Amino acid sequence: MDTKVVNRSEHDVQQLVQTVERLERMVAIGQMLNSTLDLSQLLETIISTASELVGTQAASILLMDERTGELFFAAATGSSREELRKIKVPLVGSIAGTIYKTREPLIVADVSGDARHYAGVDQSTKFQTRSLLGVPLLVRTRCIGVLEALNKINEEPFNEEDIRTLSAMASHAAIAIENARLVASLREANQRLSELDRLKSNFISIASHELRTPLMIVQGFASFLREQASGDMTSDLDMVLRGASKLQAIIDQMTNLNYLEAGLSELKQEKIIVQELIAELEEEWRPLAAAKQQNLHVNMPPTPILIRGDRGKLNLAFSNLLNNAVKFTPENGHIEIHVILHTGRVEITVVDTGIGIPKEELTRIFDRFYQVEDHLTRHHGGLGLGLAIAKEVIEQHNGRIWAESVEGQGSRFRVILPALFEHL
Ligand code: ADP
Repeated sequence: MDTKVVNRSEHDVQQLVQTVERLERMVAIGQMLNSTLDLSQLLETIISTASELVGTQAASILLMDERTGELFFAAATGSSREELRKIKVPLVGSIAGTIYKTREPLIVADVSGDARHYAGVDQSTKFQTRSLLGVPLLVRTRCIGVLEALNKINEEPFNEEDIRTLSAMASHAAIAIENARLVASLREANQRLSELDRLKSNFISIASHELRTPLMIVQGFASFLREQASGDMTSDLDMVLRGASKLQAIIDQMTNLNYLEAGLSELKQEKIIVQELIAELEEEWRPLAAAKQQNLHVNMPPTPILIRGDRGKLNLAFSNLLNNAVKFTPENGHIEIHVILHTGRVEITVVDTGIGIPKEELTRIFDRFYQVEDHLTRHHGGLGLGLAIAKEVIEQHNGRIWAESVEGQGSRFRVILPALFEHL
């Protein structure tokens, strides 16, 4: 057999084996990319694998510092990592800077003869760069840095295969860096939001506390004057008292939410007959519905249904639902309360024939301060806390609440609570 042919095919096989190995390593890096969020560990692996696959003494990743407009070392193989971290590489007068600006791979066979070589790095690290292959780190069309492989071990020139391998590693690194940056900025945004949320809660608790005392003074004196008043004065003072009690309701909502949110209020564990709870609510809300000529209809089974919980808080939750039903239903509309017993749970539904809620808002309305109407053009009063409070209370009772609606035709708020099996 012709030995040349044998040698040639052996060489081919060897090259193929090498290519397969390279590909396997790159696939492994790709998998690692999906499984780790530790960026520095990932970048270290990327550069050591890149250096090994391209066959160089060292490799490093330089990233753009947007504030200074210079490149800095984000990762490097070898023992000079600490020195490298301190070094800034200018965009002008450096090979890395050239790659960053042109966004093209660059081979420099002998850096000593290249005017663009930035000697500052070698001076600090005592590493002698002889040859170099660098590729840009691209996130879509944006360049975020450069991946460099330094000093080919076998002293052969860098070839096309090396460029391909390093470019593939660079795209892995770019994705990892971009992901890490996105995660970091999300975390930061999240932290800022939590801080704002904390400030808002503090503000509510201080504001509700500070409003309470002057309001009590207004209510106290207005009631006193009302008792003594006669003629026109009576209706004027009634108006003052009505305004004060509206203010009181708003402050109560603010306080309630804060207490519920902070888990400060203890949940009583009373045995409650659902029909009694609803009858109480019916009595409270019938006059308010009647004031708008609305018809309030209650539909309950005769056999008492027992639940365990906090009567006051449940009353508050359903009052908020009824308040909305009355508020968002025009005059002459209908409001219904239905109680149905299922196995082990009771369903209480508040239905109205009001303005309804757009489909995409059905879950958001339970968020604190969320209102469907724009606050600048809204026609209905309220703080946007009623449903958040209702949800908190129902969930504290291991229940569920949700809304169904057809815009323009009315809304249906459904509450499910665990029922007790015992009989009275
Ligand atoms: P608000 O104090 O504004 O009533 P809620 O948390 O109780 O606050 O309700 C949030 C928003 O959900 C309301 O502003 C309103 O846009 C909508 N909403 C709640 N209940 C109804 C209802 N029965 N019909 C129509 N819209 C409702």
